[in-house]
Amino acid sequence: MKIIIIANRLPVKIERKEGKFIIERSEGGLATGLGSLDTEAEKFWVGWPGIHTDDEGEKEEITKKLHELNFHPVFLSDNQIENYYEGYSNSTIWPLCHYFFSYIEYKAEYWEAYQKVNTLFSNEAVPFIENDDIVWVQDYQLMLLPKMIRDQKPNANIGYFHHIPFPSYELFRVLPEREEVLEGLLGADLIGFHTHDYMRHFISAIYRVLDLNCSLDEINLKDRIVHVDAFPMGINYDQYHNAPRLPEVKEKALLLKEELGDKTVILSVDRLDYSKGILHRLNGFVQFLQNHPEYHEKVSLAMIVVPSRDNVEMYADLKTKIDQAIGEINGKYSKLGWNPIYYFYRSFSFEELIAMYDISGIALVTPLRDGMNLVAKEYLATKTDNTGVLILSEMAGAAIELQDAIIINPNDTDEIENAILQALTMPEKEKKERLLKMQKKISTQTVKKWANDFVNELQSIKAQNREILQKIVGKRQLTQIKSAYDEAASRLILLDYDGTLAPFVKNPEDAVPSPKLLELLQKMSADKKNKVVINSGRNHQILDQWFEGSALDFAAEHGVFYKDNGTWHKNILEKVEWDDEILDIIQHTIDKTPRSQMEQKNAALVWHYRNVDVWLADLRAQQLINALIGPCARLNLQIVPGNKIVEIKPPDFNKGSEVLRRLEQQAYDFVLAIGDDTTDEDMFRALPADGISIKVGNFSAAAKYRIPLQSSVIPFLANLIK
Ligand code: UDP
Repeated sequence: MKIIIIANRLPVKIERKEGKFIIERSEGGLATGLGSLDTEAEKFWVGWPGIHTDDEGEKEEITKKLHELNFHPVFLSDNQIENYYEGYSNSTIWPLCHYFFSYIEYKAEYWEAYQKVNTLFSNEAVPFIENDDIVWVQDYQLMLLPKMIRDQKPNANIGYFHHIPFPSYELFRVLPEREEVLEGLLGADLIGFHTHDYMRHFISAIYRVLDLNCSLDEINLKDRIVHVDAFPMGINYDQYHNAPRLPEVKEKALLLKEELGDKTVILSVDRLDYSKGILHRLNGFVQFLQNHPEYHEKVSLAMIVVPSRDNVEMYADLKTKIDQAIGEINGKYSKLGWNPIYYFYRSFSFEELIAMYDISGIALVTPLRDGMNLVAKEYLATKTDNTGVLILSEMAGAAIELQDAIIINPNDTDEIENAILQALTMPEKEKKERLLKMQKKISTQTVKKWANDFVNELQSIKAQNREILQKIVGKRQLTQIKSAYDEAASRLILLDYDGTLAPFVKNPEDAVPSPKLLELLQKMSADKKNKVVINSGRNHQILDQWFEGSALDFAAEHGVFYKDNGTWHKNILEKVEWDDEILDIIQHTIDKTPRSQMEQKNAALVWHYRNVDVWLADLRAQQLINALIGPCARLNLQIVPGNKIVEIKPPDFNKGSEVLRRLEQQAYDFVLAIGDDTTDEDMFRALPADGISIKVGNFSAAAKYRIPLQSSVIPFLANLIK
């Protein structure tokens, strides 16, 4: 088994020196985490090598060197970098996922390049993916890749991790390619996010855009389940915690202290990006200076801004605004020997950064949106003298774990000002308590744990999906079932109607049996060895109407009525009287739920919601069930949630009781039950041990086999009796 990590960028630095290429591994958080995976499996990377060349000879040379490190390069042209990376990834998806709606750029050439480059990545990876391999796709630049790989490697074990926020559906829906993007992601077996909020937004987009069946953290596809989960990414805690003791760091920290004197340093570190709230932070800080002159000459803000994407206009504008704001603040407040703001527009080496973390009493982290924010965690990890205070935006993914920080809303300038004051005046004991609590959390939730948790979950999901796949009725399973059928002298065949023999249609009255179905059933029941029973929740009048003159047997209203040899029987003697309270509760639900309706059967009441918006239907179904629990317990009635229905009925009969009644009547040596609904599970459970249960649609643990699509049921039965 191999682990193949596919990310936009390979973790390498390649430099041209005197006509040669010098290749050096670069240790980002991701590379460290993946490097420390507890596995014997060999690791491979696929990604852009970060260097441009059109010379085939040079490409070959670089490729050869990279292959020695198990790195597989995907070379991109300038045009592809512009349209796929700076374009669709960073000018469409990035602002979309960070809630910068008006910054989103839509261009046909962006989308074309994005598809093309995802294909290039797929072409590079697919040839060396083998059956048991783990393929882990990283981040928003490669959202189409899971499906592209799945299409060519149906059995691959594919994971995807989204390192940035996933926006709420109301925002995501603006993306013209929303369907393609979501379908691309669903090629994965496991889709991970930093927080449960992003996960919730993603699942909501899936069921609203693709109308797929989702249950909590699972998305049900035809032949497998996709799991969605939250894996908060961490850091290499020990590396940061031990770093302040490095001689080079100590030396740098000393120099910085000399430079800054005994002032308290408030530190901020981010890439140049509008999502980081840099201007909001400056507003907060200047207001603090304005309202707290007593802190002048005592506090400085050290602002590290790492250059990023500054060839993009939006970023260049932001840079100008930051320069201006800092110029104004320093111009207004500076004194001899004191700058309110120390501004560094460059990237820092690891040692320099640690020295900065080390000498700063406060970290001010104010993103307007941030997938996680590792700077916050790194700062806390380096604090070995128990004194650092973290001010953290609630919009950063990290805020979910770091509740002991001073949490602020970056849009609230007063809150930033007050947080700075609170941090400056916080008693040492409180500082220590908060810090230790947060350190405890981040020292266990490390990047190593993050990577291992993800890969372990991916493997267990794969095992589960393999099991699901084995249940699907294909050639092998059909042969097994058919040989049992052919050998049997007496057979009981129990068939659910809606969603099994007939498609699930918008209007229940339209589910009339097709001539093809009627012909098939006629043929099946003509065989003297067969007893064919339609075991339905429908009322007996409609079944009579639809199957007039047929030789079939029936059970109606979930086993309350049954038809044996042409005559209907009723299992309950007394007429069911519906209590006004129950009728009122259902009516109230209908009034509040457009497009839902009540059906009154002979012995059951049903609330139908198949045409109602999914979210509203889930809410109302739950509310209805809650409201019905009391009266139904009092009147000894059972509440049965089914496929787009909630049914209230007497408790003693169900589709299973009908099976038991038939089995008591006569012994059969072949018993088959097919159904799609939760109510059909009663039927499955009532079968003898060697009975054959087939679930239509989603996976069900109660059934031995599964037919994913209703449209395959009639062909299956036709093949069975051939
Ligand atoms: N960082 C860096 N060089 C610098 C400043 C910061 O490599 O000069 C690193 C920092 O240590 C952190 C990362 O950049 O690991 C920033 O990660 P974060 O999650 O905070 O923000 P992102 O840039 O991923 O949005």
